[in-house]
Amino acid sequence: MMNTVILGAGESGVGAAILAKKQGHKVFVSDKGEIKSKYKNLLDKYAIPYEELQHSEDRIFNADQIVKSPGIPDKVQLIKDLKTRQIPVISEIEFAAKHTDAKLIAVTGSNGKTTTTNLIFHLMKTSGFDVEMGGNVGFSFAKLVAEMPKAFYVLELSSFQLDGIVDFRPNIALLLNITADHLDRYDYDVKNYIRSKFRIIENQKTEDLFVYNGSDENMRTYLNNKKIDSSSISINEVLYESPILNVADFVFDLTNCSLKGKHNQFNMTAAIHAVLAVGLTKENIQKGLDTFENVAHRLEVVGEKNEVTYINDSKATNVDAVYYALDAMEKPVVWIVGGKDKGNDYSPIMELVEDKVKAIICLGADNQKIVEFFSPVMKIIEETQDTREAIKLANLYAEKGDVVLLSPACASFDLFKNYEDRGDQFKQAVLEL
Ligand code: ADP
Repeated sequence: MMNTVILGAGESGVGAAILAKKQGHKVFVSDKGEIKSKYKNLLDKYAIPYEELQHSEDRIFNADQIVKSPGIPDKVQLIKDLKTRQIPVISEIEFAAKHTDAKLIAVTGSNGKTTTTNLIFHLMKTSGFDVEMGGNVGFSFAKLVAEMPKAFYVLELSSFQLDGIVDFRPNIALLLNITADHLDRYDYDVKNYIRSKFRIIENQKTEDLFVYNGSDENMRTYLNNKKIDSSSISINEVLYESPILNVADFVFDLTNCSLKGKHNQFNMTAAIHAVLAVGLTKENIQKGLDTFENVAHRLEVVGEKNEVTYINDSKATNVDAVYYALDAMEKPVVWIVGGKDKGNDYSPIMELVEDKVKAIICLGADNQKIVEFFSPVMKIIEETQDTREAIKLANLYAEKGDVVLLSPACASFDLFKNYEDRGDQFKQAVLEL
């Protein structure tokens, strides 16, 4: 009997444990931290033994294979020790892929993964395909394979998930963009991060499709020195003429589509190439575009009060995402920004801020950097640590026809549990106005 040990008991690890159990393996789950009760309940339900707050080496070193959750870096001593002992360590997506014959559409990139994954799923689902979505969003891939067998899976993948693959081979791979992120996991070398993103196509063959961003500097540099085996479609600086979108030989009407902004036109173009490849018709894609509901916390229109529109873009946790958010704004903006700084350089958005923003409301534990950077060009900069207060201030400066945009450019952990919590508090405060 295959002895499989799973490291990490979050969504990935527990999904892998359930799949391993269903495959008839002897399974043990080990987490160095505390395991959330929802996951303990699931493990109990499947009678899978586990430990928390420790890694018992005697049990771990006896494994035939280890399935590692993406949150655990290769650098930790335990993983090094496993490699020395030549015990195979694979990632959860590698493990899941081994146990399904479904066709795989995999989406990666620095920004836009969740939106694009959801859109592809929606377009296929509303066209009657037998499809599920998951990975880095919603249920883990392993859990989908174990509990929701389908003909197609649409997977959002992070670079961490791609790091532990061996044979993982998506039929269709999408690489949306590469901007420096998570460099702490990549020895502060952007080349390592780029290489990790490109692992999405390392096992592809000519019959597989690779859709990528031909205008992305990092990708272009990488592809200059690399021959790829996949059939590929490069999306180049498309001249977006909203409300019309040209993809392949088709013209789509975006009048009724909830996705706004150039970045979303890019995401839509990528998604449409993917679904055309699986056989969707133009008519079905148009219907799907008309009925797609934008994912929460991504340029989500929360409501209108006194003819001011409130938009929640709490997921914009880096400067690049804010660039596209501001670019998409067609009315004067009161911008709520701030949070845990990840070494941000605000210069790429300076011009947009000067052009579109009339007041800045900083919502973070430490707003010094933002205040210093923008005060030369912005008369109104306010500061608060309280969401309700931020909305009140924004309301004070917003006039009829303006937009109040929460697009923080920073992580949320200084004042909130996570970006969802930040977005939910924003929505609540708007409702209370
Ligand atoms: P991810 O899953 O990669 O984090 P999301 O779809 O959740 O991406 O979007 C995250 C943030 O990035 C949102 O603020 C969104 O408006 C912005 N964004 C979405 N697509 C793109 C893109 N193609 N380029 C740049 N920013 C984007």
